[in-house]
Amino acid sequence: MEKNRCAGGEQPQYGRQAGGAKIADVCSANSCCTASSTARVCPDAARRVEEELTKPAKKAVIACEGSCISGEVARLAANMLAYDRQRDSAIRICLGDASTGDSGMVSLVRRAPEVIALEGCPLRCGMSILKTRLPDLQPTIIDAGKLYSFDRTKYSNVFDLSQEQLEEYAKIVADHAEHTCFLATP
Ligand code: SF4
Repeated sequence: MEKNRCAGGEQPQYGRQAGGAKIADVCSANSCCTASSTARVCPDAARRVEEELTKPAKKAVIACEGSCISGEVARLAANMLAYDRQRDSAIRICLGDASTGDSGMVSLVRRAPEVIALEGCPLRCGMSILKTRLPDLQPTIIDAGKLYSFDRTKYSNVFDLSQEQLEEYAKIVADHAEHTCFLATP
């Protein structure tokens, strides 16, 4: 049987802020290295962070990552904004890692000139989660759910709507966020 991948031995530099014991457990089970780190590191995220830290700071874009249609639209809009339209000025942040992990995403948030949170609904879970680690953060919050409408009494599952429809709503949100945070004159 294939062994789980060892992350602790690959990225020990991000392992100082202890979280869980999972990486150490994997290493111990595999007998693959002597890493004693208890950090929670995603090697893919750590590589991305390492690369970004060699460049000028960018605006940090997060989404609430909710599982419903509103969360999915916020997620798609955040991806459109950071990965496509403003890729030279914005960086997409993994909310989970920035809030609880040790892969370095939090450092991209800390140095960002602006943190932009695309929230699916007024609960604003993205910022509530991130503020558990960065309580003094002052983000620009985009209440994405107010920018488009659909029959919420009828639809909630992301598969209730077509991908094209979800992307159409996400485009509206991305348009608004781009105009507000990147194109508007001060
Ligand atoms: S902000 Fe709303 S849509 Fe997003 S995760 Fe929270 S409850 Fe779900």
